[in-house]
Amino acid sequence: MSRIQRLPDHLVNQIAAGEVVERPASALKEMLENSLDAGATRIAVDLAQGGIKLIRVSDNGSGIAAEDLPLALDRHATSKIASLDDLECVVTLGFRGEGLASIASVSRLTLTSRPVGSEHGHQIVAIDGTLHPVEPAPHAQGTTVEVVDLYFNTPARRKFLKSEATEYAHCATTFERIALAHPQVEFILRHNGKVVWRLPAQALADRVAALLGRDFADNALAVETSAGTLVLTGFAGHPTASRGNRDTQYFYVNGRFVRDKTAQHALRQAYRDVLHHERHPAYALFLTMDPAQVDVNVHPTKIEVRFRESQAIHQFLFHSVHKTLAGTQAGQEAAHLA
Ligand code: ADP
Ligand code: MG
Repeated sequence: MSRIQRLPDHLVNQIAAGEVVERPASALKEMLENSLDAGATRIAVDLAQGGIKLIRVSDNGSGIAAEDLPLALDRHATSKIASLDDLECVVTLGFRGEGLASIASVSRLTLTSRPVGSEHGHQIVAIDGTLHPVEPAPHAQGTTVEVVDLYFNTPARRKFLKSEATEYAHCATTFERIALAHPQVEFILRHNGKVVWRLPAQALADRVAALLGRDFADNALAVETSAGTLVLTGFAGHPTASRGNRDTQYFYVNGRFVRDKTAQHALRQAYRDVLHHERHPAYALFLTMDPAQVDVNVHPTKIEVRFRESQAIHQFLFHSVHKTLAGTQAGQEAAHLA
């Protein structure tokens, strides 16, 4: 038997990268969440070759102080939480402090930033996880993270990447999920130099129409309900706008896109009377709630959450949407038959 030995940091980061950075789209998600956490009102994304060659995210957020640049790429270093109390009521999208460290360990990463109130920008380059010295670099207020050649140093992982078209499709989905929840932020997405999305700061209804189509938006029912500290807003697709798949199911908790069985079940139940069982409802719904009542630290990519009172959430979602649908003709007919 070999003796137990401590793994070098670089390898630890590469192991974590396996969970956090499954593919270019997951790196993009981490980067976009950082820009939003920094309070950006304008975010530009440039991708090349499906994100495998290049993912660049530029924002006009609060920026990073020059002396903090190496820390931003360090594992378990974060400006977002400082205590267990903070962890128990997370209000930012990030908090684990491992996004950039993981990405940097499996790519060539350049982080350039100019914080609010500073006259100059600075830059740090990480190649294969090795940090180079911080140097002055021009930048407007905000931050640019550039990730080149994802997995260039982990060939086994690189083999798991699909075609550029497939990886691009995942990146576009990630971008759209995030852009949908932040209509007040201006977004641009370019792929191989071509503009794919140019979204101005706009009202939620307009963002929904831009991303999910006029067809969905024109027939969707506005949802706006609350019960205690629970608030549900957004749009429930008209029963006639149902789909053969679940691609148009957008559900968010405190601004975070999540996959949640409780929510899926409650919403399916709410549509049960008005939808054929093989059809899937379309919706874009945003639940806001006391962050202490939901655990977001369940999964490295934060796609899952755990509600403290899942029964109450189920009821609230069901009633909110059921009531909204009852106003439609299909809903009235269903009530009449019952
Ligand atoms: P986390 O988001 O969990 O804190 P990250 O590794 O993603 O961890 O980022 C580490 C830190 O780097 C963040 O806590 C933040 O202080 C800083 N940072 C990263 N990206 C940005 C950005 N776009 N603007 C401002 N600060 C950033
Ligand atoms: Mg982060």
